[in-house]
Amino acid sequence: MSLRRPQVSVIAIDQAVNLCLSFLPVKQRPKIIGGTMKPAPFDYERPATLNAALSLLKDNDGRSRVIAGGQSLVPMMNFRVVRPDRLIDINRIAELDYHRIEGTELVIGALCRHNALKESKIVKQACPMMHAAYEWVAHGPVRNRGTLCGNLCHADPASEMPAVVLAANAVMVLRNSAAQREVPVGQFFVGQYETATADDEILVEVRIPVAPTNEGWGFHEVNVRKGDFAIVAAAATMQKKDGKIQAASIALAGVGSHAIRLPKAEKALLGGNADNAALREAAAACAATVNPTSDIHGSAEYRRDLAKTLIYRALRDARDRCI
Ligand SMILES: Cc1cc2nc3c(=O)[nH]c(=O)nc-3n(C[C@H](O)[C@H](O)[C@H](O)COP(=O)(O)OP(=O)(O)OC[C@H]3O[C@@H](n4cnc5c(N)ncnc54)[C@H](O)[C@@H]3O)c2cc1C
Repeated sequence: MSLRRPQVSVIAIDQAVNLCLSFLPVKQRPKIIGGTMKPAPFDYERPATLNAALSLLKDNDGRSRVIAGGQSLVPMMNFRVVRPDRLIDINRIAELDYHRIEGTELVIGALCRHNALKESKIVKQACPMMHAAYEWVAHGPVRNRGTLCGNLCHADPASEMPAVVLAANAVMVLRNSAAQREVPVGQFFVGQYETATADDEILVEVRIPVAPTNEGWGFHEVNVRKGDFAIVAAAATMQKKDGKIQAASIALAGVGSHAIRLPKAEKALLGGNADNAALREAAAACAATVNPTSDIHGSAEYRRDLAKTLIYRALRDARDRCI
């Protein structure tokens, strides 16, 4: 699925346009306010089973689009950034609405809403980093509708959850009408708003290894207002043995076209002390390798500097939470 969209988030543009127009007297406001900003015409299907949804997606040459929470897709359609011929609404497919522990994995289905995960004791225990990161994601009404899988398929470069699932070594389970495949999260995000999901596939579930009890984690973000997308966000995990770092993961959002892992800096940490100096060095090395762009929320330099500070804080928390 390949989307090419502007650098600035569609929602930010929507909010900015509406704010500017709200200063005009009501009679002078163009009809953009009040619901006339409509998407291009589209057909609509609401299948009751996953198999039916996959059949609808088969051979559609990318003209159909899955809709889950609609919290990212609908604004994009309203701006006519995307113009699907047909929406396949998966909201009636109850079999996709779950999150549970299966063996050593936390498994999250395509229809599991953000708020269900934010409030979940299972998530808090199995992936405390995700639980903490949800404090930063959107607002209640958006989280009531929006889904984790929709969020990951949307792949906003400034979204928190892609960084979390990267740091947590998730596996993405994609299915079409003929087969199912598992994609390591490191191969899932391939560009700005672009993932490895093919046009005929649904991300049916995300599988996240349950965090070992000796693993520490950290998540830090800077954004403009509470509930906004991140300017930069950093996620990290760490395990120690005999005082030395035995395993570490570092992921960033907001510093490029999509969320990234930083394997070089992770490797450099292994076997070393987790003192503040070592963590600062790792954070500086990460910041030196990223290549952020400037936009209305911050310059590239500011983002790089944030990356350094936030990675350090995430690693420090991860170390302090290690048993
Ligand atoms: C005001 C506002 C503030 C927000 N703030 C944040 C924020 O701070 N952080 C953040 O991360 N997000 C934020 N969001 C986005 C929110 O998290 C969305 O819920 C999420 O990005 C998309 O999830 P969805 O279920 O609504 O997907 P949809 O909008 O339904 O779909 C998004 C895209 O994913 C595809 N898709 C959906 N589900 C699947 C699937 N299972 N398989 C294959 N393709 C699929 C769709 O075809 C579409 O291309 C915000 C949204 C709004 C409106």
